[in-house]
Amino acid sequence: MEKPEILYMVVPCYNEEEVLRETAKRLEEKYRSLIDRMLISPKSRVVFVNDGSKDSTWEIIQELHNESPQLFSGINLSRNSGHQNAVLAGLMTVRDICDMAITMDADLQDDINAIDEMVQKYYEGNQVVYGVRSERKTDTFFKKFTAEGFYKFMKVMGADVVYNHADFRLMSKRVLCELANYKEVNLFLRGMVPLIGFKSCNVYYERAERFAGESKYPLKKMLAFAINGITSFSTKPLKMITTLGIVTSMLSILAFIWAFIAKFAGFAELGWSSTICSIWLIGGLQLFCLGIIGEYVGKIYAEVKQRPRFIVADFLNDLGAEFINTDDSQQ
Ligand code: UDP
Ligand code: MG
Repeated sequence: MEKPEILYMVVPCYNEEEVLRETAKRLEEKYRSLIDRMLISPKSRVVFVNDGSKDSTWEIIQELHNESPQLFSGINLSRNSGHQNAVLAGLMTVRDICDMAITMDADLQDDINAIDEMVQKYYEGNQVVYGVRSERKTDTFFKKFTAEGFYKFMKVMGADVVYNHADFRLMSKRVLCELANYKEVNLFLRGMVPLIGFKSCNVYYERAERFAGESKYPLKKMLAFAINGITSFSTKPLKMITTLGIVTSMLSILAFIWAFIAKFAGFAELGWSSTICSIWLIGGLQLFCLGIIGEYVGKIYAEVKQRPRFIVADFLNDLGAEFINTDDSQQ
């Protein structure tokens, strides 16, 4: 690995006019120091992705670019496409011109000082470095509760994500090229990146308060995000239907026994026993059948996404070296 390598930052921005200049200023300082210490190449840049902002965000990005074109660049999306799509748009734009890319929110909640350690970890051979929040002192109780509940719920539902890691992460060019092969439309990058594999590690940082402006992730959006994450990553909810069907069918045996006891003990109304037995049995059977259909739907879903079935990290000698996907020509 030839040091220093090219680092691109990808910063999604949606109505961030209040913070953008400050973010740019701090990033500029950080880049200066990293370049001076020969940790990153002077060709490194920051790319702001304007995600259809309604305020002057894009104008500010243009100004920043005009002031220091060698450092700041920008991408303007045609409309608001959502945080995940904005991040991917940036990453796919820079993947051919960078050696590594870091995604970071525009609101300065992610600690810029963690970048040093991330880059260091990259040079130590990690292809992915996850920024993980060590604490949430500054979040309100509600935000902390809902956000931590989010990670726990995701795990229970079968979508494995790195606990307390949002989208502050470093990825190598190699990983970005593999990410390009995940063609799914319902993006959930925190779930997708661990699927790619390769050597990875965590860097811990304290999450700060939003520098200015308001969160673009109110509870409603966060719930939608969690549901998207679960349904994009796991067929566990479908499997739960099967389990529920089996449990209900078993309970129907108890209902049968209870109905017989009630009938022969003489405290059942006329017709009650047969009604209660059919309700439990039919209910259980229906759930069970839905579960079977669900299993197939889950399989279809997995097929439709056409995710790569495997990614080879290394070949010895020149065995199959052409399969290592580091540029566009193989796609
Ligand atoms: N963002 C975006 N498009 C959206 C919503 C948010 O690009 O539709 C950006 C936003 O500008 C910020 C990042 O995504 O840089 C995270 O958003 P926010 O800080 O509002 O989320 P929170 O930190 O409150 O979860
Ligand atoms: Mg934020």
